[in-house]
Amino acid sequence: MLKGKAAVVTGSTSGIGLGIARALAAQGAAVMLNGFGDAKEIAGLIEGLERVSGAKAAHHPADMTKPHDIERLIADAEKAFGSVDVLVNNAGIQHVAPVDEFPPEKWDAVLAINLSSSFHSIRAALPGMKKRGWGRIVNVASAHGLVASAQKAAYVAAKHGLVGLTKVVALETAATGVTCNAICPGWVLTPLVQKQIDALAARHRMTLEDAKAKLLAEKQPSLEFATPEQIGGIAVFLCSPGADQIRGASISVDGGWTAQ
Ligand code: NAD
Repeated sequence: MLKGKAAVVTGSTSGIGLGIARALAAQGAAVMLNGFGDAKEIAGLIEGLERVSGAKAAHHPADMTKPHDIERLIADAEKAFGSVDVLVNNAGIQHVAPVDEFPPEKWDAVLAINLSSSFHSIRAALPGMKKRGWGRIVNVASAHGLVASAQKAAYVAAKHGLVGLTKVVALETAATGVTCNAICPGWVLTPLVQKQIDALAARHRMTLEDAKAKLLAEKQPSLEFATPEQIGGIAVFLCSPGADQIRGASISVDGGWTAQ
C-alpha cells in the first residue's frame, strides 16, 4: 500500500515508534528512523526494515529538543527519499512527580519532546505534502491526551496539547489530501513503561509481575497491555484510503481506559 512512499517516524529506535516503523515498512514504505541507541543495533534495525520493505531505510540522529535538528531531519529525509509522505510524531519521555516538586528542567524537556517537536516537524513537512497533494500526519498522543493522572503534570499537559495541535492541523488541511490524526495508547509494555513498573515494584516491595498487574488494574480494564504492533496497525490504517475522511480524530487503543 505504501510502495513509493516515504515515512519519518520520530523516536523509533525502540518501543511504539519501532513498531510503527516496522508496520509502515511492511507496507513498502521507505523509513527514516530517529532516536537514541547503539549504532550497531540501529544498523541492524535499518537492515531489517529494508528487508521487509524492499525500499530504503536510514537513521537520523536529530534531538527532538532542538528545533533546528528537527528541520534538518525533515530536509534530510526529503533529500534521501525524494519526499516525506508520512510523518509520525512519536518521540516522547515521561517524568513523574507532584506538580509542586516537578523540576522545571524536566517540565521543559517533556514539553519540548512530547509537544513542541511535533509543531516543528509538521511545519517542516507540511509544505511538501500539500504540494504533492497527499500526506499523513500521525501524532502519538496518549490516554493522557484525553484524561489525567496525578504526578504527570508535564506529560498530561503536553499530550492534551498534542491532541489540540492535531485538531488544528486537521482543520487547516481539511480540504487537501493531507490528514492529521492522533493515536491515544493506554499502557504499552515498552522501556518507558518498564521504568514505571520498576519504580512501582520498588515502592511497594512487590515483584515485577505484581507491579505490572497493579499498573494495569489501576487504569486499563482489559488488564492487558496494548502492543507496539497494534499501534503500528492503526498507523497503517490511518495511511489507507479507508481513512481519507478521518481528520482530527483521536483513536484510543487503551483497553477501555478512557471509556470509564
Ligand atoms: P520508548 O522509551 O520505548 O521510546 C522512546 C523513543 O523516543 C526512543 O526511540 C528514544 O530514543 C526516543 N527519544 C527520546 N528522547 C528523544 C529525543 N530528545 N530526541 C529524539 N528521540 C528521542 O517509549 P514508548 O513507550 O515507545 O513511547 C513512544 C511514544 O508513545 C511516546 O510519545 C509516549 O508518550 C507514547 N505513549 C506510550 C505509552 C506506553 O504505555 N508505552 C502509552 C501512551 C503513549
